[in-house]
Amino acid sequence: MQADILFPINAEAFTYIIPEELEAKIKIGVRVLAPFKRGKKVGIVQSVELRSQNTDNAGFSLRKEITLKPIEAVLDNEPLIYENLLKLIKWAGQYYISTSGLALKNAVPSGIFEGKKSGRSRITYDEEVKPAKIFALTDEQKKALSVINDARSGAFLLHGVTGSGKTEVYIRAIEALGDKEAIVLVPEIALTAQMIDRFRSRFGEKAAFFHSGLSPGERLSQWWKIRNGEVKVALGVRSAVFAPFKSPGLIVIDEEHEASYKQFEGLRYSARDVALARAKLEGIKIILGSATPSMETFYHAKKGKLAYLELKQRIERKPMPRVEILDMTTEEKKTLSYSDKLLSVLKENISLGRQSLIMLNRRGYSPFLICTDCGYTYKCPACSITLTYHKDTKTLNCHYCGSYLKPQDVCPQCKGVKVKYIGAGTQRAEEELIAAIPELSLKRMDRDTTRRKLSHYRIVKDMEDKKIDVLLGTQMVAKGHDFPNVTVAAVVLADVALNLPDFRSPERTFQLFTQLAGRAGRGDFPGDVYIQTYEPHHYVFDYVRDHDYTGFYQKELDLRRELSYPPFSKLIRIIFNFKNKENAAKVMRVVSARLKKITAAQDSRSRIQDPRSAGEAGVEILGPAPAPVEKIRNLWRWHLILKGKNSKALRRTAAEILETIKDIKGMKADVDVDPINLL
Ligand code: ADP
Ligand code: ZN
Repeated sequence: MQADILFPINAEAFTYIIPEELEAKIKIGVRVLAPFKRGKKVGIVQSVELRSQNTDNAGFSLRKEITLKPIEAVLDNEPLIYENLLKLIKWAGQYYISTSGLALKNAVPSGIFEGKKSGRSRITYDEEVKPAKIFALTDEQKKALSVINDARSGAFLLHGVTGSGKTEVYIRAIEALGDKEAIVLVPEIALTAQMIDRFRSRFGEKAAFFHSGLSPGERLSQWWKIRNGEVKVALGVRSAVFAPFKSPGLIVIDEEHEASYKQFEGLRYSARDVALARAKLEGIKIILGSATPSMETFYHAKKGKLAYLELKQRIERKPMPRVEILDMTTEEKKTLSYSDKLLSVLKENISLGRQSLIMLNRRGYSPFLICTDCGYTYKCPACSITLTYHKDTKTLNCHYCGSYLKPQDVCPQCKGVKVKYIGAGTQRAEEELIAAIPELSLKRMDRDTTRRKLSHYRIVKDMEDKKIDVLLGTQMVAKGHDFPNVTVAAVVLADVALNLPDFRSPERTFQLFTQLAGRAGRGDFPGDVYIQTYEPHHYVFDYVRDHDYTGFYQKELDLRRELSYPPFSKLIRIIFNFKNKENAAKVMRVVSARLKKITAAQDSRSRIQDPRSAGEAGVEILGPAPAPVEKIRNLWRWHLILKGKNSKALRRTAAEILETIKDIKGMKADVDVDPINLL
């Protein structure tokens, strides 16, 4: 007998012989120890078969006629990875044109393959959790909940304005599951601090948490708790979608539109889409929640693929905040970042003892330094990106590769001394605000201030305890928080988000500003939102001002239809990486020539099959062209975008392209299925 063993490495399964004495112990999903290259590795049994020795897809079989090696030991009595989860892992490897092994690596903590026992389960949150407030549901919440509870399977879009009580619906739906378990996905740590408290207060020890602040030991112990059936709910970011529950009954994706559900390296998966696949595979329910659903999700809900549930009212019928767009080309201002108007609003709000949120979606002090004599700007030596000045560390940092350098006193090019800081990031906005309102108590929240474990959690706590007047930061301040005392929310420079060369940037901008606006006026006093921009007539603002999601959706949908972008098509992006710029251009000419052959073949094929369906199965190939960010980490980047309505045809074409360029040397190709970043 033989078994296919999957290892947590970028490869498909490898075939081994099962020695007779191990035959009874081998089951799908158990861990085994097997010889691998010159050493040994722990892997998972993916399948067991009666096969003769010389089958072809033997793992080591690039060299033919190799004799298969035997498995050395079986490490578990019972399957460690349940079959459905194993299927999901395989699906993810295939769907993302990656490998099952890489999917396994993302799905299961590495400690599992090191034969480690679970680590200390000490997860330190400073304070005792407050007892849960139990309230009567609103009519809208009741209605949504009863639809969810009555169903055994299926996908739901819970579209609820900010502050409408979506989380309460999730929690009640989990409580109604009986003995089944639930997975709740939240986007990155920004959301989890308060969420964790809410789930701790409701589920106590029966909740497990996955977030980026966990040590490998803690991660492992959370994983085991779930695997051993000790918890009711797993709350976490991305990889929690692979939580090893035996019989989950529900998956929740909070803020389903969030870009951070997509992983940008390695297995480029979307946790939301993997969750949808898992729900289907397990035959269970899934709730996608958002105040600003992604275009794709809303479109599919309209088409009936998801059941549509709406919460139109904020809790206690609190009014939506008033939104004012400030035209920075005409507003009076004495500082770089703030109009006089916004400053006086902030001053007044502080004097009333209320809190404010300020967002500038750019960290650091200044996005570039320029020599006013010769125009020299500092660029990252490894990336085609200007460096951002960070005042606290006095360094110029690259936000792509993380490298930094010390600026010199004189311009490196002309030796001039008139070097200027252009534009503002959060550090400068902080400095300017403190200078304008010295009595202010302010905390900054961006990636630089939240690097240390629990630092994010502490800032949120200080805000909750009203120790802070103003919380200023990047998009981290806009997301998920429920601070009842916040009555003013402001955007310093809306234009940062608006003008990225990406067809999704209006959508993201609308979502981000709506989220930020949603933080204001959740308590006893109504909220006011101020958005400063140099482009006040951009159509996005019309819809942000009126909290008009459907209006925005319609407008945007028409634009997408015209260009047949998602949701009217699906995309696959192939990124080609080169060490050398000239070589890149040369090799890409070869790639282009081979692509022409593929497209020609495809055209004739689809015409032969059915002339009318050519559009349906057709795959449009855009590029190759240099990527908008031409160089990252010393690699020159070109890309290609495949666009088509038929997902299978699209993936087939991508696979075909990869196959035809396999022999080209000096180039690394990465595939991104359903990309959400085209830079
Ligand atoms: P959303 O996630 O939709 O923005 P939340 O779930 O954060 O909204 O709810 C907003 C606030 O209202 C929270 O403080 C929550 O505890 C509270 N809340 C939720 N449901 C109710 C209810 N039925 N009655 C009173 N307060 C509620
Ligand atoms: Zn760089």
